[in-house]
This record gives sequence, structure tokens and C-alpha cells, in this order.
Amino acid sequence: MKDTSKHLGLRNQLATVLKAKGITDKNVLNAVRKIPRHLFIDSSFESHAYQDKAFPIAAEQTISQPYTVAFQSQTLEIEKGDKVLEIGTGSGYQTAVLLELKAEVYSIERQHELFKKTSLFLPKLGYKPKKFIFGDGYKGLPEKAPFDKIIVTAGAPFVPKPLLSQLKVGGMLLIPVGDESQIMTLFIRKSQKEFEKHELGDFAFVPMLEERN
Ligand code: SAH
Repeated sequence: MKDTSKHLGLRNQLATVLKAKGITDKNVLNAVRKIPRHLFIDSSFESHAYQDKAFPIAAEQTISQPYTVAFQSQTLEIEKGDKVLEIGTGSGYQTAVLLELKAEVYSIERQHELFKKTSLFLPKLGYKPKKFIFGDGYKGLPEKAPFDKIIVTAGAPFVPKPLLSQLKVGGMLLIPVGDESQIMTLFIRKSQKEFEKHELGDFAFVPMLEERN
């Protein structure tokens, strides 16, 4: 697991690209400059790590595009100590960004191979979520609810009700909704019963699937 000054240079360039695309949150950009993304993908494809592209990881899944990770992180206005539920651990790169933003992270993955791989790998880099959960994100995590923020990193055909109900009042759910492509959708819980909805543009994610695998 090597991280060199060449990698650092590439990360600085990536942060500049993200800034040009509209990412303004300094803490998010600093996280991109710091996290060794090349270690999150197969070493033979290292040269792809610092391009602003999604890339295949294990089990037919992908590591999200850096812009998408930065956009979701910025939109959620993560503050130190926020209790965050992440659905779709995948490679763990988004998890690492949330941890760099000093959130308290609970991360759920439904694919066992990825769950095992990432829950061993991330702590080796020093990234320790409160909990990795092998489970179905459609159900959320009722035993640890309510959450300040919930982030979904897979394309959801519909908005799962449990995720809305597990938000604190004032909390935010950010979820890409759709089948073929998705509309990034932000829900802000205004009261026990009221949610404000914002649509934030088109994105492409692998599908959110039901049940564990
Ligand atoms: N943020 C991750 C994205 C990985 S792709 C990264 O950048 O690496 C989306 C992930 O969501 C996949 O790992 C997939 O297995 C997982 N996923 C899909 N449906 C899920 C569900 N119902 N519950 C939990 N994880 C799910």
C-alpha cells in the first residue's frame, strides 16, 4: 500500500478539476486531496484512480465518480459529530470522505464480498466508522436512528419510507432516485410529518437492490 508524492500531485489536480465543476466546500476538497483513492481500486488500474470517473470494483459494483462523492458530501453540509447513515459502502471511498469530515458513520453494504473486503481495508488506512453493517439499506438502521444525515450511493427505484422516518427533524436524506438514470433528490425533514424535497440534477449509479447477497 504505497502513497507517493506523485499520487499527492494527482490528487491536487483532481481537487482542482472538482473545484472547476462547482465543488466549493473546502473540507470536501481537502478530503479529496488527502485520501489515497488509488488504494481503493485494483492496483493494476492505478492510473485511473485520479481521473474524475467511476470505476469497476469487486462484485460488479463501482467506486462512484469523485465529482459525485464530492457533490453528495457538499450537499449534505456534514458537520463535525453528525450522525450519518451511509447506504452502499462499496469501496469505502465515500465512507472515508465522511470520516475526514468528522462525521460519526454507520455504513451498510448488502454484498458480502465487498462488505468483508472494505470492513477490513478501511481501518488499515486509519478510517474507522462507528459500525459496518452487512444488511439491506432499504430498511435503514432503526436501532441507531434517528440520524442527522442519510446518504444513499446506489440508484433507488423509489424512496424507501424507513429512511425518511429515521431522520431527525432538521435532518437530510440525499438519494439518487430512478431506474436507468437517477435524479439526485434531497429531502429535508421540517417536522415530524413534513419533508421538503429538492431535485438536484441527473446522475448515474448502479442499482439499489433488495435483500442481502
Ligand atoms: N460509495 C461507494 C459506491 C459503491 S456502488 C463507492 O464509491 O465505492 C453502490 C453500492 O451500493 C454497491 O456496493 C452495492 O452493493 C451497494 N448496495 C446496493 N443496494 C444496496 C442495499 N439495498 N443496501 C446496502 N447496499 C446496497
